[in-house]
Amino acid sequence: MNATQGQAEKHEFSAEVGRLLDLVVHALYSDREIFLRELVANAADATDKRRFEALTDASLALPENAGIRIVPEKDKKELIISDDGVGMTHDELAQNLGTIARSGTRAFGEKLSSAKAEDRPSLIGQFGVGFYAAFMVANSVDVTSRKAGSDEAWTWSSDGKGSFTLTPSSRSTPGTDIVLHMKDDADEFLDSWRLKSIIRKWADHISWPITLREAKEDGTTEDKAANEGTALWRKPKSEITAEQYTEFYRHIARAFDEPYATMHWHAEGTTEFTALLFLPGARPFDFMEQSRESRIHLHVRRMFITDEADLLPNWMRFVQGVVDTEDLPLNVSREMLQATPVLARIRKAVTKRVLTEIKNRAKEADDGFNAFWENFGAVIKEGLWEDSEHRQEIAGFARFHTTHSDDLTTLDDYISRMKDGQEVIYFLTGDNLDALKASAQLEGFRARGLEVLLLSDPVDGFWPERLHSYNDKILRSVVYSHGDLEKFPTDTDETVEPADLEKLVPALKDALGEAVKDVRGTVRLTDSAVVITSEGGPDLAMQRLMRRSGQALPEAPPILEINPRHPLIKALSERVSKGESIKDLARVLLDLARVQEGEPLPDPTGFARLLAGLLAGSASA
Ligand code: ADP
Repeated sequence: MNATQGQAEKHEFSAEVGRLLDLVVHALYSDREIFLRELVANAADATDKRRFEALTDASLALPENAGIRIVPEKDKKELIISDDGVGMTHDELAQNLGTIARSGTRAFGEKLSSAKAEDRPSLIGQFGVGFYAAFMVANSVDVTSRKAGSDEAWTWSSDGKGSFTLTPSSRSTPGTDIVLHMKDDADEFLDSWRLKSIIRKWADHISWPITLREAKEDGTTEDKAANEGTALWRKPKSEITAEQYTEFYRHIARAFDEPYATMHWHAEGTTEFTALLFLPGARPFDFMEQSRESRIHLHVRRMFITDEADLLPNWMRFVQGVVDTEDLPLNVSREMLQATPVLARIRKAVTKRVLTEIKNRAKEADDGFNAFWENFGAVIKEGLWEDSEHRQEIAGFARFHTTHSDDLTTLDDYISRMKDGQEVIYFLTGDNLDALKASAQLEGFRARGLEVLLLSDPVDGFWPERLHSYNDKILRSVVYSHGDLEKFPTDTDETVEPADLEKLVPALKDALGEAVKDVRGTVRLTDSAVVITSEGGPDLAMQRLMRRSGQALPEAPPILEINPRHPLIKALSERVSKGESIKDLARVLLDLARVQEGEPLPDPTGFARLLAGLLAGSASA
């Protein structure tokens, strides 16, 4: 170009730019604040570029206080964004700001032209629109730039209506100033509180300092830091202290605890990304009420994009942190996030890394891991249910309460303690650990030294069936396993003569009628007289859980099992053989079994009256 010094050259926008500008300016009014995200991202990129070029050419070195300055001039209705970046030459200004070089922007333009008018506002939230977003808030824009390594500066100016001018200009140092002559309805973007909140939202982790010029009470102004400033994850690990990691974790997780584990790595190869992830040290108080999706922050070149990219499976949703990639465009759309193989690859790699971390920690089998498990085990077990890919691995490190001891156990440990001839991993589900420990369902297993896993989290009602088996050992509820008991000898006192059930069982069935599905003798009890159970379909604990969660279940009468060695059953049997009625006793017996099981009583008053009557009888006897 041979412009006469001082004179403006007039250029036409390329046809594409013209159309895009038209659309941006006329069709989109919501989410206008993203103009600042786009301009600050450009400024940060330019500064990165200069730092990079200075590696090989020291004369391009950045000034010591390099950064991005935002200056609102309320009176003049101007907003200025300045950087110390690499700058643009005359030709670069014409090329970069006068044509569309970027495929993402072109795609956006195409999408936008074909979208219905009412859908357009939401599109802008999904796409970045680059530099042209400035025209959403500005009537005209002046870009003054001096390329690093050059003395020349040029000003690019446009009102976004078909053409731009390039005018020779001056700038004391290399870098770029963008002056937005704000529209009348864009006053809000001259307010420092508004600007600050936008910066915090979109650019908090831009690694360059961003300052915002604010008026002081005495009428002077001051450039104040507006971003936290450090894309901590971009620094080498050796330069980051434990305190800095903790501080960052607290910031991103809005938490106050110390992270249990910190994972910070840079992946190269087919996909390049940096991740800084944390396993929390404490469970957020409302954790179980929070949404089920992972909230890992996705950044593209330090710019926050979204926390809804589902970078981890739902059962890892307790993991906090950031993934930052070079391999996506800054204007990545929601549709693109769902479709891009880049994200799928990142997701896979990040999931694997977190899984490895948890597995390694689990191997240490220390208090730290147990505490972690107490915090998040209930969520991790959701993976046993819904993550077919990792189900067996999760089963490998999962921890369980057990009848063996008060310590948590792994399935491998359980298997190492299995009795000769035992082929099944037994478990019992219920509402809480204490009730489980006291459950009559366990008696026959305890008496035979058969260990039982005690499962009291809501999800425990679901996953055992899906997991099916671990190391070829089937998992089965003790409720459905009493048939196995016959295979194992017990220490029970064989000198006790069992009651004759031949008449008692029909008598009980007769007395209880519709209230029970069946009555039968059992070997599963040692201490208790009776137990209720169900057959086929969900067991009783599961049925309670389902009812509590609002599911309508048909009322199915339970099966009453009786212990022929128990004195009460023996006494009842004698009564029956003497021809005496056992009607009231039978009803109390069934209710006792219900109480023992944690089932609600269908008629508590009736039960109380019957029991009082029986007690009165025995007290006066
Ligand atoms: P993108 O940044 O995605 O490439 P933009 O429309 O925002 O698209 O910008 C177009 C180009 O203009 C950039 O790629 C960059 O080369 C140049 N540019 C924009 N802002 C600046 C700046 N502040 N300093 C130097 N170059 C810039």
